[in-house]
Amino acid sequence: MLYFHSTDVERQRIFRHAFAEKLPDLRFVTGEDAFDPAEVDYLFTWLPLDFSDFTRLKVVFSVSAGVDQFAALPPHIPLVRMVDPNNVQKVSEYVLMACLGLLRELPTYVEGQASHTWAPRLPKMLKDTTIGILGLGETGATASRMLHGLGANVIGWSRSQKSIEGIRCVAGEAGLETLLQQAQIIVCLLPLTAETRGILNAGFFARMQDGAGLVQVGRGPHCVIEDLAAALASGKIGGAFMDVFDEEPLPAEHTGWNLPRTIITPHVAGRIDNHQAVENIARNIKRHRNGEELLWLVDRERGY
Ligand code: NAP
Repeated sequence: MLYFHSTDVERQRIFRHAFAEKLPDLRFVTGEDAFDPAEVDYLFTWLPLDFSDFTRLKVVFSVSAGVDQFAALPPHIPLVRMVDPNNVQKVSEYVLMACLGLLRELPTYVEGQASHTWAPRLPKMLKDTTIGILGLGETGATASRMLHGLGANVIGWSRSQKSIEGIRCVAGEAGLETLLQQAQIIVCLLPLTAETRGILNAGFFARMQDGAGLVQVGRGPHCVIEDLAAALASGKIGGAFMDVFDEEPLPAEHTGWNLPRTIITPHVAGRIDNHQAVENIARNIKRHRNGEELLWLVDRERGY
């Protein structure tokens, strides 16, 4: 049995139809159906859930690139993340939009428009800008290449040393220091793990260049929002684009709504393509049934 855990009725309908074609012998259920969790073999979702009743579970498929929401999944159950080239492209285009927006001071001009303030500043160009990308995985590497292709100097930081043509790849604490010293814009494309939780904090912001910009497209808990608010208020950070928050939807009283010189978006940098999700999951279920190795497995110890 394959269970889709979601409140999205439209997606439930699309996936029910698609899996009936792809895997006709596998019973597909959603929360709308009566079923016994103990009979579920495969589960896919992007929401966290209590796995204790799913006693026969063989594989969990995430309908997202990040998998931090599955911390409660017992470690012996394989977890597969979603790798979708269109999603990688969407997130990379968001990063490009945000970097250009910061370069051309869009957050300041949006505030100026609200207060009827005409205050031109000197336009800057990508070729004179160093952009630091935290995370050089599927998305970070693509965003780096895109920005480099348009003339930016790009420094990318990862856990293990990478080599990407045209990109200055750094790793480790010394590599992060180089990136922090040199970047005028920093983009967070890290997975949320024990090591990266809270990485965007007061200490991190203090090490950035004065007036540098921040693009946060990782996961909400990467950022200590009060520290960001203070860094923006003092001018240490010049402006920000924020797509993710520790609480989503963002509650009405959340600090995120009132960050100065910040454009916020409701976690829309990317969105997994339904067709790609079905392709990936059906392909992996077939592999699992044939005793073949699963694709896109998460390293549970590493956390991504
Ligand atoms: P990925 O392919 O798993 O790449 C993760 C990268 O982060 C790798 O380069 C990895 O280093 C690096 N990394 C992990 N831990 C690190 C650490 N402690 N120090 C330095 N580097 C570290 O992930 P992805 O598909 O590019 O996605 C990255 C994240 O973007 C997701 O987990 C999610 O949080 C976020 N995301 C957001 C949206 C959105 O709509 N806002 C959409 C998609 C993804 P190594 O290469 O050395 O392993």
